[in-house]
Amino acid sequence: MSLSPVYGVLQNASMVDFPGKLAAVFFLTGCNFTCGFCHNAALMGRVDAAGLPWTEVEQICRKFRDNWVEGAVVTGGEPTLNPGVFQVVEKLREWGFAIKLDTNGSRPRILEKLLPQVDYVAMDVKFAPADYPARAGFADVAALTESIRLISEQAKAYEFRTTVIEAWHDAAAMRAIGEWVRGAKLHVLQAFVPRGELPDPACRDMPETRAETLHAYADLLRPYVDRVEIRGEF
Ligand code: SF4
Repeated sequence: MSLSPVYGVLQNASMVDFPGKLAAVFFLTGCNFTCGFCHNAALMGRVDAAGLPWTEVEQICRKFRDNWVEGAVVTGGEPTLNPGVFQVVEKLREWGFAIKLDTNGSRPRILEKLLPQVDYVAMDVKFAPADYPARAGFADVAALTESIRLISEQAKAYEFRTTVIEAWHDAAAMRAIGEWVRGAKLHVLQAFVPRGELPDPACRDMPETRAETLHAYADLLRPYVDRVEIRGEF
């Protein structure tokens, strides 16, 4: 029985992970960032972890399809690190799902090959370019710039998104993010929510982002992009 690169699948379909679609969420392992606020830290370092058997993935997909789930979210970790990502996307398309890819934007050459195969891309623009090395442990800002360009020019539909952490994102940082994605169709802001198991202990005690901050930063980003959305209950 051959193993797939799919490490896990959310039990229930999600209403919030794929705009406009009820979606199943598929996790691939491995990440090349070290975000202290990562909610999927268990997947970060495990790029070669064994996945589920394909037969099991197929059964899961059939169950979702029987329950009117039309979208599949391929996420991580960072899915473009996993050499099996192409096969996963191909299979999910064969099984009839529309595909959304979540990415941190670090691998533009892989992303470029995936873009024709996916229906929606969400790229995290986590920080201002200068803050990436310290906050995400990733210094190749040129790769991120290239991914922003590719997505803006070639994706069928897309969003850039920023999880706002008040201690780390000030107005200057948000303007730098706005400059970086200038001309984009959609930028999504979402609240940081602390949790006890976050990798960086300092993040565990940070306060949840206030609604007024999200609204102020949304106003700040509006001159740069076509549309800004605040996701969540704000
Ligand atoms: S890029 Fe995403 S998965 Fe990777 S460490 Fe950061 S938050 Fe976690």
